[in-house]
Formats: sequence, C-alpha cells, structure tokens
Amino acid sequence: MGRRAELVVDGKVIDLDVRRSQRARRILLKIDPRLGAQLIIPRGVPREEALSFANEKSEWLRDRLAGLPAPIPFCDGAIVPILGRPHRIRHTTATDLFHTRVRCESGELLTDCERDDSADKIRAWFRENAREALSVRARTAAGRIGAEVSRITIRDPRTRWGSCSSTGALSFSWRLFMAPEWVLDYVVAHEVAHLIEMNHGRSFWRLVNGLVGRIDEAKSWLRHSGPRLHRYG
Ligand SMILES: [Zn+2]
Repeated sequence: MGRRAELVVDGKVIDLDVRRSQRARRILLKIDPRLGAQLIIPRGVPREEALSFANEKSEWLRDRLAGLPAPIPFCDGAIVPILGRPHRIRHTTATDLFHTRVRCESGELLTDCERDDSADKIRAWFRENAREALSVRARTAAGRIGAEVSRITIRDPRTRWGSCSSTGALSFSWRLFMAPEWVLDYVVAHEVAHLIEMNHGRSFWRLVNGLVGRIDEAKSWLRHSGPRLHRYG
C-alpha cells in the first residue's frame, strides 16, 4: 500500500501520510509535528473509504496544519534547546573542533561546516548526551528504591518519552535532552518506578513521589511543550 496520498483543499494540496494499524478501532486523522497530516486505517477498512473520510475533514486538516509550528532542521543558525536552554547551531571549521565534530560551548552548538552530514552528527550528539544524562539518573533513582536497571536504550519514538519492560530494560527518547532537567527527572522517575510497579496505581505514584518533585508541572510540560520537541532535527 502506498504510504502517501494527496487531498486538495481550495486548490492547495495536503500531503497525507497513510498507514495501516492493527490496533486502531476506527479511521483516525492526526497531525504529527514531523510527518504532518496522518491517516490511520484500521484492519478491514478499504483504503478508499478512509481516503473519503479524510476528504470530508480536509478543511479541518488544512486549519490544523496552518497552526502547526514549522519544523526546525539542525542547520547553521537554528536555535535548539539543550536541557531547556536555547542554543544556536553554528557551523565552524574542523580545526576549531579538533576531533569532536560537535561541541556545546557558551550558548552555542558548534558543528563542522565542511561536512554535509552535520545534522546527523548533531542528532548523534543529542543521542549520546541523552544516553549519558538518562543513564546516570536512572541508575541513581533505581538504587534509591532498590530496583535494578538491566539495560537503557535511546530511541526516537513518536508518542512516548520512555518505557519500561518486564525484564528491567528502560527506553527513552533522545529528545528529552532538549527538555528542562526537571522534566527529564520526572520521566526517569516514572520509568524507574515501573521497575517495581508495572501499573499506574497508588503505590506506583507513591514511588514516583518519593523520587522526584514537580510531577504535575512536568506532566503538563510534556503535554503542552513535549510535541514541539518533534519539530527539531
Ligand atoms: Zn507509566
């Protein structure tokens, strides 16, 4: 099945990312900060039916897309947050950087301008720093509640910031390294608490509470500002 489709509203083309889902119960239209308009088709529903549903909602889609903040690529001059603080990406020469390729220094993120893969290098830099920041926090927090982390994976999931498996493996989004530290701390505490309580019951929240403050604030930050982190890169 083709992954893209086009809708036309008032003579303008809306590009649609089309995918099938085994879990979806009904046809879904969503706005994703990076993929734009997305059409999710549940099992058994013909593509044509889903497309005509999308077509009926095309004006709503157009309005939502117009309100979407523009993507911010990792390029020279772009402002990106690092632990909640804005940094300007600046291309520089490799000699300034020695062998590091990417370096964070007094409000700037320096990259090697002679290479055209600098966006990849910045992404790798974020992954690496996220891994370090999240690993230290997760192992410390786990130690405090007598739990053990078996493995930490850094990914770029679309909707979740972290997850915890029954084998004690934690997974986090590298984009958390853009969020303020107290948000990072909350996501870590949340996943670490799942090492003991695999649910969101009262004892789970008691554990989270014992590990970290500003829980409601962090949850609301993730709800409102979290999706905006997907604009970068
Ligand atoms: Zn949870």
